[in-house]
Amino acid sequence: MEKQPDLHEGDRTGDWTRLLKTKYKKELGELSREYPHKRSLSIDYRDVERFGKPGIAMADELLENPGKVLEDVWDAIKNGQLIRTKDGKEPHGVNIRFTNLPRKTLIRNIRSDDINRYISVEGILRKTTEVRPRVVEAVFRCPAGHFTVKQQKYGKFVEPDGCATDGCTFKKLELMPKRSKFVDSQKLRIQESPEGLRGGEQPQTLDIDVTDDLSGIVSPGDRIIINGILRSMQRVVKGEKSTVFDIFLECNSIEVAEKEFEEVEIDEKAEDEINRLSKDPMMYRMITHSIAPTIYGREDVKQASAHPHYGGVTMDMLDM
Ligand SMILES: [Zn+2]
Repeated sequence: MEKQPDLHEGDRTGDWTRLLKTKYKKELGELSREYPHKRSLSIDYRDVERFGKPGIAMADELLENPGKVLEDVWDAIKNGQLIRTKDGKEPHGVNIRFTNLPRKTLIRNIRSDDINRYISVEGILRKTTEVRPRVVEAVFRCPAGHFTVKQQKYGKFVEPDGCATDGCTFKKLELMPKRSKFVDSQKLRIQESPEGLRGGEQPQTLDIDVTDDLSGIVSPGDRIIINGILRSMQRVVKGEKSTVFDIFLECNSIEVAEKEFEEVEIDEKAEDEINRLSKDPMMYRMITHSIAPTIYGREDVKQASAHPHYGGVTMDMLDM
């Protein structure tokens, strides 16, 4: 009897090829022309979900098994030669990014079940680190001069067990930074939006790892949506491995959340008032004093908390 194809699986790479060819022709063309300057393809989750018969299953698969989906999409691009670079080389390192997820997970509701799943969280950016290179493909050399390549994932640096060349028994290898491949990386910390909190609750935070062209594009105070894969890493206390794992989000895409601001309607009267206030030399003081007005003094703390809320002008421009 002939083997039946797995109905759940189907030809998933083929499905992605069809989706990209019908919905993302323009974007793929742009990537072909502008690679490597442009090197990310953003796919709207709603385009996936609404993509005919396999759409719902493809969208579910992204949420449940994002690692596989990212590979499938990459296979679709590679096999279908959907990106043709000017020099004819295969476009290594194109980032597949998904945006516009319908459901957001509250930071406080993240659970162990979410590990390795694709989730979307919204919050205010509290902290960013400087952008630093992170090794993604480490090249090592043995004393005999053979090269061994080791792909690197998030977290711990992995070294090869020994030289990969047949017959070579050297175990001690030297890292060759100049031959290795690096991408930009940055760590972010987002805090849940204050609107979602009940009185007295402390806002919770989540750490985010961003890489490549997403590094350095957002600033503290920004209200953002981060989509990505939830990862866990074993906590180490004083050199001892703990049974507790820390979580972080491996960022796949960043969206600026502007909805709340768009909802504010400014009529002519309000506009006049805003313009008048903007010229008021006491504006800075008024803002500071409007923070927690029931608490006396603590000007420095109030000023510090006013800044992320009313950003836009540097301190030395203000007449204090
Ligand atoms: Zn060797």
